[in-house]
Amino acid sequence: MRFSQMLIPTLKEAPSDARVPSHVLLVRAGYIRQVAAGIFSLLPLGMRVVHRIERIVRQELNRAGAMEVLLPMVHPAPLWQESGRWQVYGPQLLRLRDRKEFEFALAPTAEEAIVALVRDDVRSYRRLPLNLYQIQDKFRDEDRPRAGLMRGREFIMKDGYSFHVDEEDARREYQNMYDTYTRIFRRCGLDFRAVEADTGNIGGSLSHEFQVLADTGEDSIVSCDACDYAANVEKAVLRRQVGEPPDTSATPPCSPVHTPGVGRIEEVAAFLQTEPQRLLKTLLYIADGKPVAALLRGDRQLNEAKFRTLLGASQLDPASDAQVRQLSGAEVGFAGPVGLAVPLYADLEVVEMGPAFCGANRTDYHLQDVVFGRDYQAQVADLRVAAAGDPCGRCERGRYRHHRGIEVGHVFFLGTRYSEPMRCEFLDREGRLRPMVMGCYGIGITRVVAAAVEQNHDEHGIRWPMALAPFHVILVTAGLEPGIGEMARRIYDDLQVRGVDVLYDDRDERPGVKFKDADLIGIPVRITVGRKALSDGMVEVRRRDGKLDTRVPLQEVASVVSSMVQRELEMGVAGA
Ligand SMILES: [Zn+2]
Repeated sequence: MRFSQMLIPTLKEAPSDARVPSHVLLVRAGYIRQVAAGIFSLLPLGMRVVHRIERIVRQELNRAGAMEVLLPMVHPAPLWQESGRWQVYGPQLLRLRDRKEFEFALAPTAEEAIVALVRDDVRSYRRLPLNLYQIQDKFRDEDRPRAGLMRGREFIMKDGYSFHVDEEDARREYQNMYDTYTRIFRRCGLDFRAVEADTGNIGGSLSHEFQVLADTGEDSIVSCDACDYAANVEKAVLRRQVGEPPDTSATPPCSPVHTPGVGRIEEVAAFLQTEPQRLLKTLLYIADGKPVAALLRGDRQLNEAKFRTLLGASQLDPASDAQVRQLSGAEVGFAGPVGLAVPLYADLEVVEMGPAFCGANRTDYHLQDVVFGRDYQAQVADLRVAAAGDPCGRCERGRYRHHRGIEVGHVFFLGTRYSEPMRCEFLDREGRLRPMVMGCYGIGITRVVAAAVEQNHDEHGIRWPMALAPFHVILVTAGLEPGIGEMARRIYDDLQVRGVDVLYDDRDERPGVKFKDADLIGIPVRITVGRKALSDGMVEVRRRDGKLDTRVPLQEVASVVSSMVQRELEMGVAGA
């Protein structure tokens, strides 16, 4: 394609409401335009990226045995009333009425519509399993849509649903889709992790999020450096055995230290000239109306979800300042386990701490040489938020690394959540009527676009992975001499014959303007034909990721660049 004939409206300035890099860059580089809050149009470049992703998704899903359908975007209310979601789905569901006053919803997902389709046409175990998917617009009426394509209201999503005779077969398909998603995101050229989305189930849960790693991601995740376990920090399991407690037989009895006015961990550590790791943190909570205390190493954070599960409590809140004063008999910051008349729960690490400092339950005082088991007792459990460097709870060999992530895909075991209330049933071998067991599998296509940019950009613009780039190569002329244009056209034709997608910047602009646009748009390879090419027959080949900046003879440039492009596209396929 010729730049001069395409609609690529690049901008110098980002829209004032754009905060995250993908929003800024996709607007500035002419990929998207906002129509209303959270609602965007895709321009030609944006559409090309979407098509790249959709093509990979279709190829891999079809190969895995799934079949494409297209369900409507407008769903009648009675379907949603059958599943019960009409009543419980909050304001995110956009509801409308037609001219006859019938109620409808703009679909945020399509479980009801797919169940209605399958239950009418599939009645026998012989027709199962089935895996159907669609690539369709979805609508979620987000309260505060933000971050461009990252969290829009209208978006393109691939949603798939599978139907099975029993749980065992649904689990088999779950694994099939998990493997397929892994291939899809690898082929997209993205650095990602499949993250367990279920709590504490170390045997492998039936809900995984696929997270693209990016510093700007909303989710905080850890992954093991030795096995493939990864999880949200809130959910990550830590090793469950307690280490050997240090020998404290020679530790003197615990004694008070005057610590006037220093209550916060960092202040106490500084005052006592020690490390936060040597301090014992005591957190008072109210669980279903009863006080409890969690004990952690001073530099650690309590994982409230783990604590609540351990207590079996439905409500867990930090104690108010007044409650802390009442329970500890001291100002906030001076609570400690010794003599505290509240059930105590200690994180595993507390046992291994050795003599520690802690609050004395007396304003302006701490205790030193406090020993677990000697000076206080507590129930021991895994209570803290996983952090970088923690040992993996799965393999117990590796250690956790910390990342930020953007969720782009989700595989989920549904069971009979929809098939039972909606009577999606089949006759089994023995002629008994049974509900189908389901799984569901989503990929946010437009979110992948945004996540790819969040992961691959610099101060000059986007740096697309080859597989997702709207064009593989941008061909730029620098200079108006007729010979230059002629050479460029020859390279353009030659590359196209070799199956390379080329954007030919033939505009009558200064080279500086063209280079800036090329960097902003983010096409992986730039070929520049300038005046020097007229004299020495050499053209510049430069990669957007900075890995290559060289000069190649005019006659060879098409073959050199096309094999570079092919190699990179095949790498994703081979790796998949
Ligand atoms: Zn591991």
